[in-house]
Amino acid sequence: MPLELPKLDYPYDALEPYIDARTMEIHHGKHHAGYVAKTNAALEGYPDLQEKPLETLLADLNQVPEAIRTAVCNNGGGVANHSLFWKIMAPDAGGAPQGALADAIQAAFGGFDSFRESFSSAAGGVFGSGWAWLVKDSSGGLQILTTPNQDTPLSQGLTPILNLDVWEHA
Ligand code: MN
Repeated sequence: MPLELPKLDYPYDALEPYIDARTMEIHHGKHHAGYVAKTNAALEGYPDLQEKPLETLLADLNQVPEAIRTAVCNNGGGVANHSLFWKIMAPDAGGAPQGALADAIQAAFGGFDSFRESFSSAAGGVFGSGWAWLVKDSSGGLQILTTPNQDTPLSQGLTPILNLDVWEHA
């Protein structure tokens, strides 16, 4: 069945002053919606692929026919990346994590403050537009990495935990 643009759990202006309503509207109502439409267009005529979860296609792009592989990578990636991004933010939320994630961050980065510093610095190093990520690798360890454009760590066999949309500023 065709992908749909997920509704946000909060209004466009809920994240101000960190992200203004206009930016939210552009990234959700225009960019994300556009990626949904273009992914659906690419998958038209491939009912077997439409039945698979998008994450499954992105995790193994070789199973996607070459004719639509780039379109699925770029637009499907845009869908998956933004869907996670809207979920990991909320008004009046945030702060240091607790429990298993806090332990894993401690083990990988030496603490939350140093994680935050490394994550910000990675995000600041993205040239043009892309994403900064906290991911879990196959051994359960955490890594910070960045991807260009709408590439997703799912395609590298990694599990996204947290991401940050990095776009070019005027
Ligand atoms: Mn975006």
